Amino acid sequence: MSDKIPVVEIFGPTVQGEGPNVGARCIFVRVKGCSFKCSWCDSKFTWNDHDSDVVSYEPTTLADLIVQKCLDTKCRKVILTGGNPCLYNFTYVLKKFKAFEISTDVETQGDLYPDWLDSIDTLVFSPKAPSSGMPDTYDKITEYIKTQISFPRKIAIKIPIFNTEDIEFSRKYAEFVNSISDKNKRSIDLRLYLSVGNSDVTTTASIRDRVLSDYESLLNRINEFPNHFQDVYILPQLHTLVWGNKQGV
Ligand code: SF4
Repeated sequence: MSDKIPVVEIFGPTVQGEGPNVGARCIFVRVKGCSFKCSWCDSKFTWNDHDSDVVSYEPTTLADLIVQKCLDTKCRKVILTGGNPCLYNFTYVLKKFKAFEISTDVETQGDLYPDWLDSIDTLVFSPKAPSSGMPDTYDKITEYIKTQISFPRKIAIKIPIFNTEDIEFSRKYAEFVNSISDKNKRSIDLRLYLSVGNSDVTTTASIRDRVLSDYESLLNRINEFPNHFQDVYILPQLHTLVWGNKQGV
């Protein structure tokens, strides 16, 4: 792991647009660098071979900066995203957040498991379905979650859906979530989220109508598999309805 943490953007207060904390007022911290290259990635500007404004921070400096922003804006939730935040060491940053009662969400594709993940309040794994062109991280994600079922925190599996193959792919995750529910009086709040894939991440025009139309289609398609998706949560990306593809909001 690198000591310094390269950050593309820190913005907010805004709202969490997806997953178990959708609608929560929060500050976003987006790091540079990702171990994947998804075909439909909406954050390609974080990839190492793309130009973007990056500031590399010592963890102490980054922690001070974010905490001050939280204090100034009276915001008590931080979302660590990317890119892949698991490429870096957030141990010190998280310790500082705890001291100021700031809760933290992490969003990652589930290929890397640094020790500090265990102290995250809400963990969102986003495995990549076939439309992404990336490998599945099912084994790693499910093995990790099995070690966490007695801990009282939120863990979500969130899969962007672009086509029927992606829905098929998601079925095994639905079965996994159901199997955990059935077998254990668990403490974790484990949920599966299917979200509407954004098929045009470059347009600067409003994408509200398309997102809502795709959302309706997704609802209808999931209803064709009632036995497989009994406890699933289906959401559009809230921020795309409000801001489209605009960055830093
Ligand atoms: Fe983009 Fe996320 Fe895929 Fe990385 S894992 S390429 S940030 S969508």
